[in-house]
Amino acid sequence: MTSDHQPGFSTLAIHAGAQPDPTTGARVTPIYQSTGFVFDDVEHAAALFGLQSFGNIYTRIGNPTQAVLEERVAALEGGTACLAVASGHAAQLIVFHTLMEPGDEFIAARQLYGGSVNQFTHSFKKFGWTAKFVDMDDISAFEKAVTPRTKAIFIESLANPGGRVSDIAAIAAVAKRAGVPLIVDNTMATPYLCRPIEHGANIVVHSLTKFMGGHGNSLGGAIVDAGNFDWSREGRYPALCEPRPDYSGMVLHETFGNFAFAIACRVLGLRDLGPCISPFNAFQILTGIETLPLRMQRHCDNALKVANYLSQHGEVEWVNYAGLPGDRHHGLAQTYLPKGAGAVFTFGVKGGYEAGVAVVSNVKLFSHLANIGDTRSLIIHPASTTHRQLSDAAKKSAGAGPEVIRLSVGIEDADDLIADLAQALAVAAKA
Ligand SMILES: *Cc1c(COP(=O)(O)O)cnc(C)c1O
Repeated sequence: MTSDHQPGFSTLAIHAGAQPDPTTGARVTPIYQSTGFVFDDVEHAAALFGLQSFGNIYTRIGNPTQAVLEERVAALEGGTACLAVASGHAAQLIVFHTLMEPGDEFIAARQLYGGSVNQFTHSFKKFGWTAKFVDMDDISAFEKAVTPRTKAIFIESLANPGGRVSDIAAIAAVAKRAGVPLIVDNTMATPYLCRPIEHGANIVVHSLTKFMGGHGNSLGGAIVDAGNFDWSREGRYPALCEPRPDYSGMVLHETFGNFAFAIACRVLGLRDLGPCISPFNAFQILTGIETLPLRMQRHCDNALKVANYLSQHGEVEWVNYAGLPGDRHHGLAQTYLPKGAGAVFTFGVKGGYEAGVAVVSNVKLFSHLANIGDTRSLIIHPASTTHRQLSDAAKKSAGAGPEVIRLSVGIEDADDLIADLAQALAVAAKA
C-alpha cells in the first residue's frame, strides 16, 4: 500500500485501533479485566492526573479494551475522538452534562426512541435542563425554537421506531446559525449506512447495544467528537471554555483543540457520573463491529424484502419503511442512506388491537421482545407493551396506535421471515 492509501470502511471495522498485544502477541484485543494500572513512577502518575500525558489510571475513566473500541468507532464515524460508556442513555446523559447548565434548553426532534423522550422529559428536568420538542420534518420549527438559552439540537438520523429519515444537513444549518452543536443519534443507521459528520453534525451518539454490537448480548454507548465545533464563545460552554479548578486552571478547548469535547466528556462527565463500560462488554461490541458492514447490508436487504411483502398483503393496512419507493421519506433515504433504509420499521395490521396482539402471539421465528438490532428478528406491539400506559390519543401521536407493529428485521433467510409473518397474519385474520 502507498502511504497515502486510505483504508476502506470494512477494513477499519476490523482493524481500526487494534494491534497485536505487545506483551503476549494475542491477535484479538484482550479483555483487560483490571480496575487499576501501575504507574511508572511518581512523575508519570502526576502527568496522568494533570492531563499532561495520556494513559491508563482507573477503569472508571478509561481501559485499554475500551480504548480500542473508542478508536474504532471514531474511525468509522470520521470523528476526531470517541468516548465509550455503559449504554446509549449514559452517552446522552454525559453529552448534555458537558453542554448544559441549570436553566439551559435544547431542541429535540419529537420523533425519538421512547426511552430518550422519557430521559429528556422527566430525568433531565431534575437537572434544570429543558427539552423543547419539534416535528423532525419541520425545519422552520427548529429555527423558531431557538432562544439565548439553547445549547444544542438533538435528532436521530433514522428515527426509532417509525423509520423516518432526518434532513441532517438542513438541521445542521439551523444549528450553525444558532451557534450550537448538532447532536445526531446514529444508532439505527450506524456509520455503515450514514455518517452524520459528513452532513454537518458536531457530535454523534450511539447505543452500541443495537446494530453496532449487533448480537443482542451487551449494552454500550458512544460519544463521537467531530472536532468541528468552536467552543471558544465566552461563557457559553463553561465546561470547555472556563479555567478548570480541578485541572490547575486548564481551559479544555485551548489545551485539547479539536478533541476537547471528547476529553471533557471523559474527565468531567464520566469521571463524576461514573457510567463506564465494562471491558467485557467493550470486547463483545468490538467483535460485533468487525462484521458490521456484512450484517447491516443483510439487515437492510431483508427488511426491504419483508416490507415489500407486507405492503402487498391483504391483512396489512400500511407499511412505514423509507426503503419503499412510495414512502414519504424515500427521497431523504436516498440522500442520507443510499445503501439501505435500516432494518427497523412499523406496519399497521387490519383488525386493530386484537389483530396486533394475535400477530405477536403467533410468530415463531420472530422473538417478541423490546430490543432492536439483533441478528435475530424481533417484533413488538407497542400498544400492549412499551406504550400501554399512554392514553389512546397519546398512543396515536407517538406512532403506537392499536394496529401498529414494529419489526427489527434480522439476518436470517428472508423467505423464512416472510413465511413466519404470513402464518401469523393468517391466524390474526381468523381471530
Ligand atoms: C436503544 C436506544 C437508545 C438507548 O440506548 P441504551 O443502550 O438502551 O441505553 C438511544 N437511542 C436509540 C435510537 C435507541 O434505539
